[in-house]
Amino acid sequence: MERIKLIKGDITKLEVDAIVNAANRTLLGGGGVDGAIHRAAGPQLLEECKTLNGCDTGSAKITKGYRLPAKYVIHAVGPVWRGGNHNEEQLLAGCYTTSLQLAKENNCKTVAFPNISTGVYRFPKEKAAVIAIHAVRDFLNRNNLPETVYFVCFDNENYEIYERLLKEKSLITKRKLPII
Ligand code: ADP
Repeated sequence: MERIKLIKGDITKLEVDAIVNAANRTLLGGGGVDGAIHRAAGPQLLEECKTLNGCDTGSAKITKGYRLPAKYVIHAVGPVWRGGNHNEEQLLAGCYTTSLQLAKENNCKTVAFPNISTGVYRFPKEKAAVIAIHAVRDFLNRNNLPETVYFVCFDNENYEIYERLLKEKSLITKRKLPII
């Protein structure tokens, strides 16, 4: 069964074990998806975040979900795109891998990711999607948990990119080698 699913919409509405937040290093709230998650979770989320002492770029920390339908929030800090020569690709991959590791350690079966760094951090969307899909596929191939990962796209552009890439890649992995 396919363990990667694509959704268009608002990540704060999802009834999954964990949603991932595209946070900043302070973990003290911001705009975009971070603002939406804090508004939906309520003020207790910020109180817990204050105890975490921030988070490095390329890494992630976990909290409870409070008023969200999701049990946990995994706060991942994506890199700001600065032209591509500042380790941005590895740092973005690190967000996905660390988040999945935290999800696994907390027994999460279902995890939802937003398109980390593709908003105000300006990471090129297609490049970010390739990195995200590779990092998630690689982790799922080596681990039984999480069982299912949702890519949640808020904007049409990201949704269309993921739709195309997920189709392309699954065609490649399903294609049988010709027998000579
Ligand atoms: P970053 O600073 O990492 O770029 P942003 O929050 O600015 O974070 O954007 C990351 C992605 O989250 C963008 O693709 C944006 O369209 C998307 N986004 C914004 N609000 C939501 C939401 N409620 N649910 C899911 N994705 C969202």
